[in-house]
Amino acid sequence: MLPEHQGKLPNFWYILANEHGCLRIQFLDHFDEPQEFWIHIQKDCCCSNCNPKLQLSKLDNHYLYGECGNSLNARCKKVLELITTWVENQASVAFPNPLFKPTVYSFISADQLMQLAKDAHVIMNLDKLHKALGSWCFFQTHSPELLVNL
Ligand SMILES: [Zn+2]
Repeated sequence: MLPEHQGKLPNFWYILANEHGCLRIQFLDHFDEPQEFWIHIQKDCCCSNCNPKLQLSKLDNHYLYGECGNSLNARCKKVLELITTWVENQASVAFPNPLFKPTVYSFISADQLMQLAKDAHVIMNLDKLHKALGSWCFFQTHSPELLVNL
């Protein structure tokens, strides 16, 4: 970009278009938003710079993006809810250090959860579970139980 063109562009837009950091943080920072707007940032489900696989719709008033594209149907949502509850229980066992508060995503990624929710009805054995998850560090120890929960 020609320097004289860059000079005409508000700095905020220049940074937004050129930096590959978190889009949400750039809005929060630019508008000097209060602390309550900054909590609940999860890289897996934050913005399309943090997770390029997200299909984003509009920002809400806390700069959180809505879902769009292939959103989940009711059956998938139910499955997702069940798996998430199971993961929450497992996570506290898997990370027993009381100083470390694990989130669902320290145990399984958002992508993997989404894949399970979509494929649960066709995952009948460990082989199919492995295909749906790809590499998952708790596969050895937790896959049979996860399969039962699907
Ligand atoms: Zn982000």
